[in-house]
Amino acid sequence: MLEETTRSVQCDFMSQLLEGKTALVLGVANRWSLAYAIAQAFRREGARLLLTYQGERLQKTVEELGASLGAERVFECDVTRDEDLAKLTETSERLDAVVHSIAFANQADLARPFVETSRDGYLLAQNVSAYSMVAVARATAPLMTSGGAMLTLTYLGSTRVVTNYNVMGVAKAALEASVRYLAADLGPQNIRVNAISAGPVKTAAARGIKDFSKVLEAVEAHAPLRRNVTPGEVADLAVFLASDLGRGVTGDVLFADAGYHIMGL
Ligand code: NAD
Repeated sequence: MLEETTRSVQCDFMSQLLEGKTALVLGVANRWSLAYAIAQAFRREGARLLLTYQGERLQKTVEELGASLGAERVFECDVTRDEDLAKLTETSERLDAVVHSIAFANQADLARPFVETSRDGYLLAQNVSAYSMVAVARATAPLMTSGGAMLTLTYLGSTRVVTNYNVMGVAKAALEASVRYLAADLGPQNIRVNAISAGPVKTAAARGIKDFSKVLEAVEAHAPLRRNVTPGEVADLAVFLASDLGRGVTGDVLFADAGYHIMGL
């Protein structure tokens, strides 16, 4: 019986969950980016891929990664520029999934007490890390003519105090609230909006957080699974949410963090 169950799970993994779907993935910077792991998993599941990069500095790397994934388009989109956001509406004739995997805050604000956050630092983190999700949703929803799934990446620091996460935790709280309001607005068009709360993963963005290695150590010591989550595990949750398997889920924050968020003392 157990063997049979295992076989059917393996069989489901073999079928392509995103066949016939077109996905726009924003936030690939390099091969360590969570967005890259998601793009890889989407491709594995048969999706057509469109990728964006932040600016010229990342162009070559993301174009090369895009070519290795057979992406149909790789283009620039800096989410602080309205003209770049407007381009998203001309991305493709139809979109079925959008992945927003973007965040930024001043490094100084991720290393000193939160109470010292400047107005500019606060607004910068909100603009790039939270408002951008609203702008991306507005630009891409008209392309989801048969419904679709929008995803963003968040972190436990939105609801709990995590040392040095500071202004980014507040931005993630706004991002998660935005997910709920977007889900309510776009639900009647069968567009689902969800966030994945990923456990800590060593990426360029994570390296900006002071003492990040201590966060990894704490998760490994205390998470129910006694380890950190892998980018591939985060990506497989994204596949679920973007696929028809996730058709009844919207406005939610789902965790891929080896269970760390359930732990008290
Ligand atoms: P990353 O550095 O690979 O990705 C961050 C991306 O944000 C980069 O591609 C960068 O170019 C993009 N970006 C920043 N400013 C931008 C702008 N103005 N316009 C367009 N793009 C911009 O790091 P990552 O860890 O893969 O981060 C992806 C997402 O995952 C972020 O939202 C991050 O907060 C979230 N997240 C990360 C972790 C972790 O531990 N790595 C955990 C939970 C959530």
